[in-house]
Amino acid sequence: MSNVKMFSDLHLIKPIAIAVGKEGYKIPTPIQAQCIPQLLKGRDLLGCAQTGTGKTAAFALPVLQNMQKSGARKRRIRTLVMTPTRELAAQIHESFQTYGRGLRLTSTVIFGGVSQKAQERALRRGPDILVATPGRLLDLMSQKFINLKHVEYFILDEADRMLDMGFIHDVRRVLDALPEKRQSLFFSATMPPAVAKLADRMLTDPVRVDVAPKTMTADRIDQTLMFVDKGDKRKLLEMLLHDTAIRRALVFSRTKHGADRICRDLVRADIAAGAIHGNKSQNARTRALAAFKNGKFRVLVATDIAARGIDVDGVSHVINFDLPNESESYVHRIGRTARAGKAGKAISFCAGDEMGYLREIQKLIKRQIPLDRDHSFHSEQASRGMENGAPALSPAQKQSKARAGQARRRKELKEGTARPARRRRRPQSGAKTQESRGAAASGGKNRRRRRRRSPQAGK
Ligand code: AMP
Repeated sequence: MSNVKMFSDLHLIKPIAIAVGKEGYKIPTPIQAQCIPQLLKGRDLLGCAQTGTGKTAAFALPVLQNMQKSGARKRRIRTLVMTPTRELAAQIHESFQTYGRGLRLTSTVIFGGVSQKAQERALRRGPDILVATPGRLLDLMSQKFINLKHVEYFILDEADRMLDMGFIHDVRRVLDALPEKRQSLFFSATMPPAVAKLADRMLTDPVRVDVAPKTMTADRIDQTLMFVDKGDKRKLLEMLLHDTAIRRALVFSRTKHGADRICRDLVRADIAAGAIHGNKSQNARTRALAAFKNGKFRVLVATDIAARGIDVDGVSHVINFDLPNESESYVHRIGRTARAGKAGKAISFCAGDEMGYLREIQKLIKRQIPLDRDHSFHSEQASRGMENGAPALSPAQKQSKARAGQARRRKELKEGTARPARRRRRPQSGAKTQESRGAAASGGKNRRRRRRRSPQAGK
């Protein structure tokens, strides 16, 4: 157990302590209290944590301090942070700049989807810290704009997401380009076998830190469920957003087209909104996010992928216009509000065809989401479906449930935690031969035929 209670217990050097104070942080979050002392000692780290836990400061503060202490600016990349999405990369870079503002260290961020010219120029200036997404990093490495030979600190962020997005080979290629002697930090929200294997390859005698924010986050958030007919969702959203108590809302749509449609309707209803999803250019995504952050847009409509890891202060409400088809996403989505100890509200719309999703979500979070029946668009029909017991799953839901079951079984088999499969009954004597199998099969057929002929049979 760590006995760190205040930032002053962490022995941060003055310029960093001042920067932290300016951000208004007084008490380190659990991950900061556990990671910072170990990282200052130079240990490798395996952190099971996701965004919203204060993870960025947990690695950025000690890395900045170690860099500052180990010498002057050398105009070469000494710290490399790799993260799967462009938004996360931009945020981490901003954090390094914020926490390191009193130091003479420089940071640069590179990611795809935008021209590489400005990035080339920034790299020529020789930054101390480079934050990158894998694709653009490898591109610029192969064009010789980047040399990783002097990296002393390597941080792999959101490793599980990196693997999900198919970046495993890119990560391996980057690892091959790094010097053997370095301090390595590995963060992942989950630790499936492939991720654990990668961590094992990357780390030497790491300290292990686990913070499970999911239930904590879910507990602090005031969650509400609203049953509504599909065709009324738009009107319900507009009605809610006319309430000025919703200062800054993130609205989630299951599809990119849906996100565009919701955004268009909001703008028509005079509600300042922008959309962010995978079909938008990186510049459009950056602009929309910036407008949301600086208050020009009160509402940002997003899909799950685009919103992953978005860290905007003061999101007062998350509104699930559509329920997510993966229950885990519900926790990620609502975790965009109530960050760093603040309160937040999550409102979820649920139409008749989303009951299966709702059931899976409630199973995952182990609680019923409190229902609001008093809004003008409440659909009795949908709510009756819920009270009459578990509603049937749609074919798509059935299919995704079966896939999840198969994946779980594969995982259990890999980890050796699977229960043995139920055995089929064997014939009474001896091993089954081809013939006996055939006979059994035809016996079955004959039995069925007999039953068909005589309706009394088998009664
Ligand atoms: P992260 O998990 O790094 O994305 O951080 C989530 C949010 O928590 C960011 O907005 C940080 O500015 C904020 N934060 C990080 N550490 C602290 C702290 N010790 N006290 C208050 N807020 C914090």
